[in-house]
Amino acid sequence: MSFTLSPLPYAYDALEPHIDAQTMQIHHGKHHQAYVDNLNKAIAGTENESKPIEELVAHAGSISAAVRNNGGGHWNHGFFWESMSANAGGAPTGKLAEAIDAAFGSFESLKEKLAAAGMTRFGSGWAWLIVKEGKLEICSTPNQDNPLMDIAEVKGTPILGIDVWEHAYYLKYQNKRADYLAAFWHVVNWSVVEARMNAAM
Ligand code: MN
Repeated sequence: MSFTLSPLPYAYDALEPHIDAQTMQIHHGKHHQAYVDNLNKAIAGTENESKPIEELVAHAGSISAAVRNNGGGHWNHGFFWESMSANAGGAPTGKLAEAIDAAFGSFESLKEKLAAAGMTRFGSGWAWLIVKEGKLEICSTPNQDNPLMDIAEVKGTPILGIDVWEHAYYLKYQNKRADYLAAFWHVVNWSVVEARMNAAM
């Protein structure tokens, strides 16, 4: 078995002007494709060839760096594409809004804390909103690690992830990671995030 790159669930220009089409084309078609290709190379002929991506990620501490990095890259990006959509953004509603208020005080506070997690992640990595023991929490991971990994500093079930690698924003935002993080709120698909939360609670 080998892994394949799924098409984006929307057009490359669907997230304009917040995330530009060229960034999406390169990010999905080149970066994500490379994680898939390198993951397939790394598992070829090994026992990991027959395992689902979730199982590889869950055992990140006992697999090679190539499988951890590229397997994490494959899982993280698939999750990321589905976290966004056209005509999205705004404020979360319903049970998700209630859980956010309970955990962080307000949606504004969640945005500040998640942006801070993204800004303080040195180098490349991800900022996450997770469900941990029935509550929402914020954390970040380096490289292509994620909170599902056994080696993660903070473990939980991700319900929203923000890619803070430079390749996610550099063409449009250059060094201004904070501007990219502010724009991200216009493309979050809150109904997907809420469904993930309900499944994890
Ligand atoms: Mn990326």
